[in-house]
Formats: sequence, structure tokens, C-alpha cells
Amino acid sequence: MPANQFLRACSRLFDRHQRSSSQPFNFKIRGILPLVLIASVPFSGLSVANTSEQNEPGAFEFHAPLFESDLEAPEQDPLQSFIEQKAGQEIWREYTPSGNDNIWTFFQNQSLSELDLIELLKVDKAEAYLASLESVVNIRYQLYRNNRLARLSLTMKSGEIVLLQKNEDSLFNLSINSGDHLPEFKTFTGEIQGSLYQSARKAGVSVSAILQFATIFQWQIDFNKDLRAGDRFELLIDDSLKNSQGFDGNILAARLYQKDEVHTAVRYSDSQYYTPQGKMLSSSFSRYPLGKESRVSSGFNPARKHPITGQVRPHRGTDWAVPVGTAVYAPADGVIVKAQKNHPAAGTFIEMRNGRRFVTRYLHLSQLDVKEGQQVRKGDTIGRTGNTGLSTGPHLHFELFVDGKAVDVMTARLPTGESLQGDALKRFKIATQPLISAMNRDQQETLLASKETGTLKN
Ligand SMILES: [Zn+2]
Repeated sequence: MPANQFLRACSRLFDRHQRSSSQPFNFKIRGILPLVLIASVPFSGLSVANTSEQNEPGAFEFHAPLFESDLEAPEQDPLQSFIEQKAGQEIWREYTPSGNDNIWTFFQNQSLSELDLIELLKVDKAEAYLASLESVVNIRYQLYRNNRLARLSLTMKSGEIVLLQKNEDSLFNLSINSGDHLPEFKTFTGEIQGSLYQSARKAGVSVSAILQFATIFQWQIDFNKDLRAGDRFELLIDDSLKNSQGFDGNILAARLYQKDEVHTAVRYSDSQYYTPQGKMLSSSFSRYPLGKESRVSSGFNPARKHPITGQVRPHRGTDWAVPVGTAVYAPADGVIVKAQKNHPAAGTFIEMRNGRRFVTRYLHLSQLDVKEGQQVRKGDTIGRTGNTGLSTGPHLHFELFVDGKAVDVMTARLPTGESLQGDALKRFKIATQPLISAMNRDQQETLLASKETGTLKN
């Protein structure tokens, strides 16, 4: 089915849902047909057993259902919570679509309201841009305090910027900007005194850019505790999008000067941040905490029915049936938030924060090899699988949360941590050199100015 037709079909489906029910519903996408099937499940009473998400027969034997209330939701990154409370709707969020993404997966991944998606699809010409995200480099958006969408902007490969913005009548308006504006570089420098938030605001950095700054270095620095008074930062921001779309957080390059280390990041044409040597700033993230693919005995399924009672009991993780004592490895760099025994449902379990946006959990273990507060590197052994808690057979139950939301690790968009090589690296260096020099120059000027006025420490 062509994409446009598909969107229209789904739009009709949503309209019908909206008329027939005021209940919100969750949908899950893995291609076109499952979407239509699954989207109709929660309100038509069809069995989930009809979808491609169905587990193999006998899969339930391995796993007693884990009730949502048995294990509380992971805590949000403290910096994120603080900034959201403080600045709420000022924050611009950014999303880079991957090959498999469509507008539905984007809405689902970001926990956006389906009602806003329906409204967007009603806008004249919007479908043409939203039908496929293949020609979209990145998506930026702003929310109201009630988490409803205020604006959404798409940067197209052609350079065009498509802005969908709610007007006074709460309807979205579409405007297209040719995008042939010249960048307007602005440099912000400052020194950490008190919190990052205070120090950066004092230096004139927007709230969106502060969050972006912390996200860029989320794998290198824990902004909640690794910053020290006297650390200095330098941000090179393109201000040219401010007038056309209101976006005020476009960091092109960033540098953080710590006591023993300098971290540098530059933004490339793929909207990702790299070191000047062409290494992506993210940790690489494995989908397989057991080190290799094992048999999935029960997959991620937010609408799973309890095999006995028939009630919907979400399965918010992936189960791998493996013998007791199988080593569990950190799938990415992280810090151990919880390492506990004897939880009635989870048994012996670990909760790990990976960067600012990811949390992973490992349930029903037999052994803990880490302590709370411990930093781990990708590949470190953190424990051994078991059969503890509410579990009827040896297996690992693994959960992944992105921005506080449980997602399917098999399909989630995960950081790759790639390094550019060969010609790609050459092109990268040519393209990013001006940004690095611009920063160096400004930093030198800042240093000189500080020296002259005698404010520089050390
Ligand atoms: Zn499970």
C-alpha cells in the first residue's frame, strides 16, 4: 500500500476510534499490517493472539506475569526532572529518525498524544511530509505543560524546514521555510558555579540548549554529579532557526573543560555529535545483555493477556530462557541504580542507568556482581541469571526504558557509537574543521580576556 494511502487509512481508523471511545489507546508498530491489526485490538475486543506479536506456544510456562505495580517505574534523570519542572514548555526536544521509523513510531517512542497525530494528519499538505520519514533529517518539537504538542518542525534532506504549529484555535498550521538561511554563530562561555542549570542560564544559554548539552555528553559525564566548581564550558550555537521556527537550542559544537580532561563535540550533517576525530559520542548499545542472541521465550508485549485469567497484563520486557548461572553483561556504559535481593516479583534484580535517557533492568537473577552506585563499562559482568522472584523457570527478564518509557529492546533505536572511517572521515573533518577552529579561537579570546581581568582561576 502506498504510504499516503496507508496514512489515510490509519487516519480514518483513528477518527473512528475518537468518535467511538474517549479512552486513550496504545498502538504498536512493526510494519503496516500489524499496525492496522493491533491498533484495532484494544477497542474492538479482538484477541491479541491474532497479531504477529504472538509468542510461540508454551512460552508462558517460563514466566509468571510481573505486575506493573510490583516494581516501581525507574526514576527519571534528575537533571531532566529539574529542568522540566523549571522550564516545562520552553524545552525543544530533538529526534533523529532511523531507517525503520515512521511518524507512528516517532509518536510512540516519544510518548506523544495520538490525538495530536490525528490533528496533524488533518492539515492540508502535511501528509506529504509525514507519510515517510525517509527524507527527514531530524524532528524537533515543543510540548505544552499537559504534554500536548505545541509545535513540530521537520528538517528535510532538501534543507527545507516544515513547521507545524498550533494556532489560537488549537489547530495546526503548516509553513515551509526554504532553509537557505546562513548560520548565525553565537558563542556562549561560562564557568560552573553552583548547578549546570544556573551557570548556563547566567551565561545566556537557552533551556533547550542546556538539555542538549547534557545529552551530547551523556556517555562521558554524569551531569548530576561529575561537574565541579570551576569547570568551564563553551557552546557554539546556530541562532538562525530562532526567527523561522523559534528553535533556540541548535548546538553545533560544545566543549567542556574539566580539571584533567577536555571533552569536545561537533555536530555533523547526520545530526549526530562526534569527537573531532570522528568518533560518535555515544556508547555503543547492545541488544543482547547475554552476549549473544538466545531464544526469546516471551517477547515485549504491552497488551499481553494473562494465560490463565485472560486479563491484559503488559509484558514490559524480553525473556530469554537460559540456564541458571548464565553471565549477564552491561549492554552499554552505565551506573548501577539498584542491586537488590528478595523482591517478591523481581527476585534478585539490577537497575542500571545508561546515559541520561536509558534505564535497563535485569530480573530473576541468582547472583549480583555489582553494587549500587557502581560505574560499569559495556561488557562488564554484572550478575548471573536465575529463577528468583515470580518466575516459574530459569530465564532473564530484561527491560529497557527510553525517556522513562518501556520499549522493546529488539526494535528500539539504540546508539551505535560508530567511528567514521576513510573517505567519510575525510569529509567529516573538512566539514567540521571550521566549527572547531571557531571554538578554539573564541576560547583563546575568552582565556585572554579572563587573564586580563584576572578572573581566570588556576
Ligand atoms: Zn519477562
